[in-house]
Amino acid sequence: MQDMQFIDGEYIPSASGKKIDVIDPSNGRVYHQVSAGNAEDIDKAVKAARAAFDDGPWRKMSGGERAAILRKMGDIINERVNELAELEVQNNGKPLPEAIWDIEDTAGCFHFYADLAEELDQDEGKNIPLSEPRFSSIAVREPVGVAGAIIPWNFPMLMAAWKVAPALAAGCSVVLKPSEVTPITALEYGVIAQQAGLPKGVLNVVTGLGPDAGQPLTDHPGVDKLAFTGSVPTGSKIMAAAARDIKAVSLELGGKSPLVIFEDTDIEAAVEWIMFGIFWNKGEVCSATSRVLIARSIYDKVLTRLIEEAQKVKIGHGMEKGVLLGPIVNKSQFEKIKAAIARGQEEGATLASGGKTPEGLEEGYYLEPTIFTDVPLDSWIWKEEIFGPVVCVRPFDGEEDAIRQANDSRYGLAAAVMSADLERANRVARAFRAGIVWVNCSQPTFTEAPWGGYKQSGIGRELGEWGLNNYLETKQITTFNDTSPW
Ligand code: NAD
Repeated sequence: MQDMQFIDGEYIPSASGKKIDVIDPSNGRVYHQVSAGNAEDIDKAVKAARAAFDDGPWRKMSGGERAAILRKMGDIINERVNELAELEVQNNGKPLPEAIWDIEDTAGCFHFYADLAEELDQDEGKNIPLSEPRFSSIAVREPVGVAGAIIPWNFPMLMAAWKVAPALAAGCSVVLKPSEVTPITALEYGVIAQQAGLPKGVLNVVTGLGPDAGQPLTDHPGVDKLAFTGSVPTGSKIMAAAARDIKAVSLELGGKSPLVIFEDTDIEAAVEWIMFGIFWNKGEVCSATSRVLIARSIYDKVLTRLIEEAQKVKIGHGMEKGVLLGPIVNKSQFEKIKAAIARGQEEGATLASGGKTPEGLEEGYYLEPTIFTDVPLDSWIWKEEIFGPVVCVRPFDGEEDAIRQANDSRYGLAAAVMSADLERANRVARAFRAGIVWVNCSQPTFTEAPWGGYKQSGIGRELGEWGLNNYLETKQITTFNDTSPW
């Protein structure tokens, strides 16, 4: 396990020599320490990234040359799937099969952006027809420069890939600041970069606390673009920092995503997608199905089956076979979720299932899958992101009511609808004010498709060609093809 920062192609100790404890959420014990980076470390990393961008070979390479290195990075990650997935389990707590998906998706993300890097070679600029015939103009795309990427703890390696892979494909250099809670796998990117032959300085990883390492990165004048995934309050600080220096910024923030279930939906399918939507990754998912709206005529049936299934969920260590729900990522998040559960009860909602630590699992941060009903529309638990295995369920009366309740949120990351009537499902899909909409499912995420939110869920889109565009500038080149301007 790495413990030092990766700057300018090498692992080096932090300037202060201070360390951050890394905790195993299954027992609350410290099992590793990593560098506590500060402004000095960030400065070193940004300078290395700046030099790699301004003077290094990376952005001058063809897209095909960059693609070969990105592909190698993906291959190395694929070869190490099980080992990296186990590191993810120990650091985040998620069940092993889910960690394996994460790492496979991480490798897939590098392969996908390798293909897009290659396609950039075909892009000789878009011809722009002008109203003045003596001029000709083309629009070309170029890397934006040094990208500062700040990520959360729920998908530690994958969230990094969503930023690092498209940035590298575009020809940018990167300073990555992983979450202080889950730095272990992000630090492995250094080894992967070295083995794949990424030029030094192109990818740098600095671990540290948000205010100590994240903020100096957002404030650094050598950074051209900030890419952030995390909470709304931190996103707001990052946007303010970007505004001060007019840096490009993309934000992937929180959500309170609804799933609308119409009366013609198969009950078992509905229950499965609710379960997957909210209990996958312990509900620590920005797009988690945290609000469920069920047509009144099937409300009782769906709820009864949902409670039965939720009570069958195997809770335990992420490495244990058959476990669906691992421990919450750390003590602070565990306490936040428990406080949200208490608040829901104070607000008059009914705790229909769960809400406690299961017997025998008092060591570590375990919680039962939790279901609230009779949730008031103006309650905190209906409106705010809990980021844990807690779902709020309400009935609705008719399509209009479903859409109104679904859209009544300051967030707009994701939404889902289930109905046997595809025309209706698609009508509702269009009516949702959200950046990601699922029909007859909830949560499947594809590297090829755009990801991001409306309203306070963020700005910009990651993944697919949209993810690459995040790291490209557009330049017009206009040529005068006559002799005199008069
Ligand atoms: P967070 O906002 O607390 O922290 C995210 C990152 O920002 C961490 O690396 C942290 O160290 C850093 N940070 C904290 N303060 C900072 C500051 N002042 N300046 C710069 N950086 C700072 O979020 P979290 O608790 O790690 O993650 C949970 C949140 O992330 C949830 O709200 C969730 O919805 C969101 N999330 C969104 C998506 C998405 O794609 N939209 C995906 C995953 C998580």
